[in-house]
Amino acid sequence: MPSNLDSYRQKRDFSTTPEPSGGAAGTADERTARFVVQEHHARSLHWDLRLERDGVLASWAVPKGIPPDPRKNHLAVRTEDHPLDYLEFHGEIPAGQYGAGTMRIWDRGTYELHKFRDKEVMVTFNGERLHGRYVLFRTDGKNWMIHRMDPPEDPDREPFPDRIQPMMAKTGPLPRDDSRWAYEIKWDGVRAIGYFEGGRMRLVSRNGNDITPRYPELRELARALAGREAVLDGEIVSFDAEGRPSFQRLQSRMHLTSEHAVRRLSQSEPVAYIIFDLLWLDGHSLLGLPYTERRERLLELGLTGPTWQTPASHVGDGAAMLDASRANGLEGIVAKRLDSTYSSGRRSTAWVKVKNFREADVVVGGWLEGEGGRSGRLGSLVVGIYDEGELRYAGRVGSGFDDRELKRVGALLEPLARADSPFAAKPAPPRGTHFVEPELVTRVAYGQWTDAGTLRHPVYKGLRDDVAPSDVVFDDS
Ligand code: MN
Repeated sequence: MPSNLDSYRQKRDFSTTPEPSGGAAGTADERTARFVVQEHHARSLHWDLRLERDGVLASWAVPKGIPPDPRKNHLAVRTEDHPLDYLEFHGEIPAGQYGAGTMRIWDRGTYELHKFRDKEVMVTFNGERLHGRYVLFRTDGKNWMIHRMDPPEDPDREPFPDRIQPMMAKTGPLPRDDSRWAYEIKWDGVRAIGYFEGGRMRLVSRNGNDITPRYPELRELARALAGREAVLDGEIVSFDAEGRPSFQRLQSRMHLTSEHAVRRLSQSEPVAYIIFDLLWLDGHSLLGLPYTERRERLLELGLTGPTWQTPASHVGDGAAMLDASRANGLEGIVAKRLDSTYSSGRRSTAWVKVKNFREADVVVGGWLEGEGGRSGRLGSLVVGIYDEGELRYAGRVGSGFDDRELKRVGALLEPLARADSPFAAKPAPPRGTHFVEPELVTRVAYGQWTDAGTLRHPVYKGLRDDVAPSDVVFDDS
């Protein structure tokens, strides 16, 4: 099998990069041939697999890393042969150089060779992390696949989940048996389940939308979790100048469409991912573990970075925490029962929202014209909440908008117009309501519920597209 290092040397300037230039080709004893897997934090994260062969290192770049499970093959792109001294290489490749970034040794050891052909390479790894038989097979040009032939090293390993529905809290007073609960701040943002696999991240909102592209500032978190599989639960939050979570400020991030605007705001007004639960780790679901254990495992991950953090959780002293949250102008706290498992997709009494002020999500079912200069145009929203499958009228929202927002919301309502009312018969929506398909969800602050079951003095806080209208039920916020 011919191999040479010309291609390797042509790509590099050895007066600048600390990488080895490669001396004389060595001769390998095939029984003790060595391998290395390097975790390469280049422009895009990948793992470089290198096998000692004929005095050089035959190399592949594996974007998602070596697959631990025979049910999932990974792409492996054949790259140029590297010199043998590259087995030990780790460090920084300077900016501007080929493969600029950080190179770490992920694993090394020896391998047993079963086959080495132009289109198929079969080996058994004997590394510190990597054990077992693998085959690499060429599919097209430089593209190969790597497949684990042995069963997973961890026999109980489960396939990575596509989707875990978030657990929801119920609104209520502080629990009485204080010491059996942990208290966390209630974060006012957008709930997001984060899926991390092979150094990649996917963020999914409550209604199942992939919202990853909206928050490029969170991509670094995927690198921080490189080499692990994890599903995290948390809230994407935008902080105002006083350091308080601001749902309104987040609005500009929820509805952006242009890539340019996303990039600009991700730098000028970065969000934070507040990670409060760990649902999956390295081939195992944690949903059945009690809160205290999930929390322990989450803390072990040490997830603290420029745009992500693991928030505090206090056992007991709920009243003091609620007072503190009020003094800081925060929405409230969430009590989580220490022995509770994670009830995916359910609104559970094991999580209780205790609120300082009242906000709710409501569904827009119509609108009323404004007065004076606004006649004929949007003046207030006619909103409802689902109750046993019916949209119940819940009031009109006429304040909290500026002109621009009225115009924007008015334009969104226009194509949703319909002739008949989407609301249940009682209580009746106001006369003169222009009805719309109940597709928009908006957050409102309010004083209290009236006896008639409507919101008193609701104030518009912003539209949200992370919540499905049908999920807007009486206990929602
Ligand atoms: Mn590389």
